[in-house]
Amino acid sequence: MRASAAVVALCMTGSAHAFVPAPALPTRTKALRTRMSASEEAERIAVNKKDERRRILASPKYNRMGFKSEAEDVSSMMLEEFTSPMVKELKSNSNVLQKGDVTVKLAQDFGFCWGVERAVAMSFQARKHFPSTKMHITNELIHNPGVNEKLDEMDIEFVPVNENGKKDFSAIQDGDVVILPAFGATLEEMQLLDSKDVQIVDTTCPWVSKVWNTVDKHTKMQFTTVMHGKYAHEETIATSSFADKYIVVKDLKEAQYVADYIVNGGNKEEFLAKFSMALSAGFDPDTDLQKVGLANQTTMYKRDTREIGKIFEKALMAKYGPAAIGQHYMAFDTICDATQERQDAMLELVEDPEIDIMLVVGGWDSSNTHHLAEISLNRGIPTYWVNKAECVKPDGSIDHKDPHTLEVINHPNFLPKGKVCVGLTSGASTPDAYMQQTVENIFLLKQLQPAMATA
Ligand code: SF4
Repeated sequence: MRASAAVVALCMTGSAHAFVPAPALPTRTKALRTRMSASEEAERIAVNKKDERRRILASPKYNRMGFKSEAEDVSSMMLEEFTSPMVKELKSNSNVLQKGDVTVKLAQDFGFCWGVERAVAMSFQARKHFPSTKMHITNELIHNPGVNEKLDEMDIEFVPVNENGKKDFSAIQDGDVVILPAFGATLEEMQLLDSKDVQIVDTTCPWVSKVWNTVDKHTKMQFTTVMHGKYAHEETIATSSFADKYIVVKDLKEAQYVADYIVNGGNKEEFLAKFSMALSAGFDPDTDLQKVGLANQTTMYKRDTREIGKIFEKALMAKYGPAAIGQHYMAFDTICDATQERQDAMLELVEDPEIDIMLVVGGWDSSNTHHLAEISLNRGIPTYWVNKAECVKPDGSIDHKDPHTLEVINHPNFLPKGKVCVGLTSGASTPDAYMQQTVENIFLLKQLQPAMATA
């Protein structure tokens, strides 16, 4: 069964975050729907969304494994492009490197995660495999400006976003190749692409797919998915497209607000206004929070996700009693190891009393990099979140994003005088080579500092 014209039309015009009806049913089934109970209807939608995704993934047009014939060449290319001799030196010296007045201390875990490396390799393999075919990508492959520029150089076109903030898929023609990024794609996008005669290279990280499977379980059991994430993040948009009912909470404060509503009730209008961008269509907090399943955007604070789970479990226990908790709350472990390891390493690094400033290298849209910078700033360490080496400027200033205000600001004379110890880490989408370039600029700046002081 192909996606119906109606579904495709919706995909072309509807918001990526809008509720998507299940694919149109045959006429006879439509007639039966009038006699379905609400719970039967919910199960039908659940089965349809999950089955629809599986049907599309099973299509021969879908490639989820990359291209073995190109693997060796791409691996050498990535080695040359993305690895760093400096990082090798750091690793062989207990993650410490000294040059002149600068000592660099690198976090124990940092940089490219397995899922990102896989997505980049698959995209490069696809370009080699289809050297002259028009190729598109539905979003940034990963949140790294350097890697995305590289894809641009390879003539892989980003699906444009129109003035209404909606993606415009009209340039994709039969015979083209379309890459889906590591965060995945929404069900609407998958259906739309399935309706075209295109090859799909799906680089969705298996950790993200694991969260989708969890959401399927919630929906099958008629539980509402409570998603710990940022409602506008591509991964959360994709994951929520597979849920029947969902609410996205970004932090403990929002989770507590929802939990209080579960226990005590509250002002429904205020609730709906507060989460207006973060709810499935038709969400009713009075009826849709009786059964709750937890899921997460893979790059959130893992400790917060666990804490949010406890908040909901406690609220539902208070409402329905401990004996009935199994019927009202479910949680599966969907925590991504790579994110957890980088956050743990950062928590360890910020305890080092010798560190004067922290350098966090990673895309300014990168959620996991944001959290790394936040950990350091919250510890009171002057923290500079840079997205490329050029942020460190020859005039002694640095362009960086403040993880609290989310403003990009220029900080003059950021490098302390005399000896300085720089803590260093990078986000899961940052190749080691880009981190090295940033550190080299710091070394250079330090050498120039005396001359700049007398100028
Ligand atoms: S951070 Fe985790 S979920 Fe995200 S791409 Fe990397 S391995 Fe996959």
